[in-house]
Amino acid sequence: DHLVNQIAAGEVVERPASALKEILENSLDAGADRIGVDLAQGGIKLIRVSDNGGGIAADDLPLALDRHATSKIGSLDDLENVATLGFRGEGLASVASVSRLTLTSRPHDAEHAHQIVAIDGTLHPVEPAAHAPGTSVEIVDLYFNTPARRKFLKSENTEYAHCEATFERIALAHPQVEFILRHNGKVVWRLPQQSLAERVGALLGKDFVEASLPIDTGAAGLTLTGFVASPTYSKASRDAQYFYVNGRFVRDKIAQHALRQAYRDVLHHDRHPAYALFFTLDPANVDVNVHPTKIEVRFRESQGIHQFLFHSVHKALASTTA
Ligand code: ADP
Ligand code: MG
Repeated sequence: DHLVNQIAAGEVVERPASALKEILENSLDAGADRIGVDLAQGGIKLIRVSDNGGGIAADDLPLALDRHATSKIGSLDDLENVATLGFRGEGLASVASVSRLTLTSRPHDAEHAHQIVAIDGTLHPVEPAAHAPGTSVEIVDLYFNTPARRKFLKSENTEYAHCEATFERIALAHPQVEFILRHNGKVVWRLPQQSLAERVGALLGKDFVEASLPIDTGAAGLTLTGFVASPTYSKASRDAQYFYVNGRFVRDKIAQHALRQAYRDVLHHDRHPAYALFFTLDPANVDVNVHPTKIEVRFRESQGIHQFLFHSVHKALASTTA
């Protein structure tokens, strides 16, 4: 079973940033509105995420580290309509199999916290601990027991950059959550609870927000909200393309194509437009399980979605040149 976990971990936990993504999504699923992230040495030495979410009861701590144990799916039906971010029940187990992991938690109605340590995938007994209501996950020495995989990690700087990008993608989509990110003890991001416009401004820059067009539109069960760069915004790069489907950051060919086409049509140039866009649709019409790390999705009605995205952005851009 340990080997199965390690193999699964290879898919889910490609690098520190993927471990960070798993545990940040768990904190959001748990309803946290304050999340602190501490990284050391690009996340290779340490990833610690502390939240003020619902917490895990002492008895459930071992279960949380069990492969395929998830508290988020009640029946097979739910698989189609799952609203939470993580749902495969293998995030924590996978990370635990390739690190030294400590899970500390205190449900809001509990008087004390408890903690469980997993080293090399082996669970130690649950013990009392000190912790405010909420949960902390601490991942130390990622891949210490799988040297072959560890060898594939890039420099600390590169791994850190991936972690920061992951953090930013998640923080952008949750402006109602306060986030702090520290790397090697230094605060990198301190984001208070704020409006979406403020969060976009904090992460993409005030000049982007000032030179951007708000979008807030919907049709036939599809909605699109957020900001696209206006014609006057001169900076343009692939880095500033944030597109979310039902709250998840994704890279989607259909969306990228629709947006580029809208920009080309209205502005007659072919730069990479900057945008922060949130697209929602009925979860039954999108397959989010195409990729284990869920950065790609597959739409059931991709043509209609392309049209909707193209027209929504086209309209916003055209309003400035009319
Ligand atoms: P999944 O998120 O797919 O359910 P995980 O392995 O990521 O699987 O987590 C297993 C379980 O542990 C979750 O279903 C949840 O019940 C619990 N859990 C993990 N992290 C947290 C957290 N930060 N707060 C509360 N519960 C958590
Ligand atoms: Mg999860």
